[in-house]
Amino acid sequence: MIDLHMHSNYSDGSMNPEQLLEEAQSLGLTAIALTDHDTIDGVPEFMQLGEKYQITTVPGVEISVDTKMPNNGHMHILGLFIDPHATGLKDTLNYLLTQRNLRAEKIIRKLNELNVDITMEELLAEAGEGAIGRPHVARILVRKGAASSIQEAFDIYLAKGKPAYMDKVKLGEADAIKMIRDARGLAVLAHPHLMNYDTFDEARQKILELRELGLDGFEVYYSGMPAEYTQNLLTLSREYDFVISGGSDYHGLNKDDVRMGTGKNSDLNIPDEFVKQLKEAKRKKFETLNV
Ligand code: AMP
Ligand code: ZN
Ligand code: FE
Ligand code: FE
Repeated sequence: MIDLHMHSNYSDGSMNPEQLLEEAQSLGLTAIALTDHDTIDGVPEFMQLGEKYQITTVPGVEISVDTKMPNNGHMHILGLFIDPHATGLKDTLNYLLTQRNLRAEKIIRKLNELNVDITMEELLAEAGEGAIGRPHVARILVRKGAASSIQEAFDIYLAKGKPAYMDKVKLGEADAIKMIRDARGLAVLAHPHLMNYDTFDEARQKILELRELGLDGFEVYYSGMPAEYTQNLLTLSREYDFVISGGSDYHGLNKDDVRMGTGKNSDLNIPDEFVKQLKEAKRKKFETLNV
């Protein structure tokens, strides 16, 4: 079994890269990918430790894409097998990180205006190694009694449309895919069903548009994806020669109903051979591009 989608404490997961590998080893996984949100800071450490745990480590990243989606849907694109030393990738992710910190300052200012006592120093301490996100703000609010739970902190202050909500700077579809290609990675649409199109046909149209921009494939194995949706994706992948992938989207204690490898409700069991197929797809992609 393998798991090609998970988060460490470099973004919003609760475990560090080594703890992820320990967990993977105890579950008998043969390959895992680290796909933190908009950062690759955990990747070097992760790659270096793979051998110690006898697990194939796949370097990755998960990019939030700025695009219009129906029904509060969202688009995330995974870069798998990226080169973490690629300069364009590092520069772009650093830019996103800077913008994220500016946004955090705006959220703090807004909360202070609302008479909530919270400082940037507290927030930086809470985020530790990781990129600052709204969940960090929420945890502080709960600790200080400004909200009774993480969910309430979002519902009162931080969710879209609430008083302390601030937009995040994100890459567009073309820029996200290009950045991944430039870092010699495969661009894989994460959890396609969460784009929230009303019909599969609309999702299909969008996926074919992304293909024109260089999308290589999509996740087909993801907890909670309707079985019919999975079947439709498998058909589409055969039709256009898309690569397929999948994973649990493990976040450790930060999403405690999701298990590494098997996902939510143990509905996942991704076979080992997908890693080989993805590797082969990468070889082909960059061989034919001749770069
Ligand atoms: P950020 O990257 O700072 O925008 O934070 C995004 C994270 O916040 C997501 O991964 C979720 O874990 C969490 N989140 C976003 N919206 C909500 C919401 N309405 N309720 C609870 N958690 C949320
Ligand atoms: Zn996450
Ligand atoms: Fe995602
Ligand atoms: Fe994820």
